[in-house]
Amino acid sequence: MVRALGRELQPSGLDTREIDRAAGNKTCRILPTARVIGVSMDFLAARAAEADLGPVTARGMSQNARLQGETYDRNMLTTGIPIGQALASDGWIDGPDLQIVNIADHFTRPSKRRARDEAEEAQQQAQWRAFHRRRARYTTKEAAEALARTDTPTLLLRGVVETTPFAGTLRRSHGEFDCALVLPPGLVTARAIRAAGRAMPHGMITFGDAKSWRRRGRLDDGDKRAAVALQVALYGEAAKLAWGDRLAAAVGPVGLVVNPPASGGLSIAKLTVLDLSEMTAALHQIRERADAAVRAVDAGLAPDVAAGARLSKRDPAANRAAVKALLRFGDWNASCLQACPMAQACRRHVEDTGQVTRIGPAAAQAAPVTSIDRLAQLREGAAPTVAEDDVAEQIRRARDLLGPPVALPWQRPAGGQGRVAA
Ligand code: SF4
Repeated sequence: MVRALGRELQPSGLDTREIDRAAGNKTCRILPTARVIGVSMDFLAARAAEADLGPVTARGMSQNARLQGETYDRNMLTTGIPIGQALASDGWIDGPDLQIVNIADHFTRPSKRRARDEAEEAQQQAQWRAFHRRRARYTTKEAAEALARTDTPTLLLRGVVETTPFAGTLRRSHGEFDCALVLPPGLVTARAIRAAGRAMPHGMITFGDAKSWRRRGRLDDGDKRAAVALQVALYGEAAKLAWGDRLAAAVGPVGLVVNPPASGGLSIAKLTVLDLSEMTAALHQIRERADAAVRAVDAGLAPDVAAGARLSKRDPAANRAAVKALLRFGDWNASCLQACPMAQACRRHVEDTGQVTRIGPAAAQAAPVTSIDRLAQLREGAAPTVAEDDVAEQIRRARDLLGPPVALPWQRPAGGQGRVAA
């Protein structure tokens, strides 16, 4: 059924952001379903906007941020020398000897030209898929050779790993990592062992990501670093599955984030070690839950598909029915607003269906009351059931302390601050 919903579409592989997004909302069943169909959340949000179920959510980086990111990436990931210097000064490698292999130098990127029609778009997608597959094969070969070297550590730049097992897509998915330090057995330094927290007898491979935001302190930027840790953990876990046992044994439990210093030029690299254990566990959790989530959606969608629902750019009614059907399987929470292009459509859905999650984190205090209508009835003095007694008691105490409750925004008359009848 899930695939029938996307039968008009060409499924595609997905980039790592789409996979990472699932860690932000582990109970959302739209995310794994979209991955099985092979569509991005941006695509779904565009279909939702077409069906008037949510606003257009075109989001982009500011030009300044994009330029800064591109400049920093170019400075770090072309020759890799600044990263090599930082690795040497932080003790990750002994001395300046470092073999640097830029995987991107060995391949020509396919055209990024906007396709004129669907046939050309399909042809471009096929070229990109072949490009990723070839780079992934080459990266595996270079990583194996790097681990077998006995005299020098190696820094791989812009390598590619297959991420299909985590993406859960029909088509193969790949992710491009910024850098990976490969320390062969015998060249694993004390600094690397200290970071890993254990001996690494098979050598150590540490993935890293370059980010152009400035490194302020070791404990700053927690949210940003958590996002990078998730991405780096994905490269590590995907590599373990794709690279075979010998290389997998060397993938370390930490990652690196490469930032410019708090002040100074964008050509300097500062390194921060990321502990990947939590993010690795989150990734495996997402993977394990995905199958069950998609099975549940599959069963739930049957009547909609039978009635003609399908994601379509040509048939607005079928598209609207498909998006509406999918929205039933979301689990909106306030953090979706930052993380997912579907957030506005999902929020509108929970509001329209009176789900208590619409009120954000306070919804946890309202459990086991799950509908806003019922919550409003309790606020208005309805007799609670046994299960609702605690919530009703809280409302009573709040009323004693604060006076009659102010109407929730959707209960107010236009422009008013109305009170709910006690
Ligand atoms: S916004 Fe909707 S689709 Fe996106 S994570 Fe939240 S619930 Fe899932």
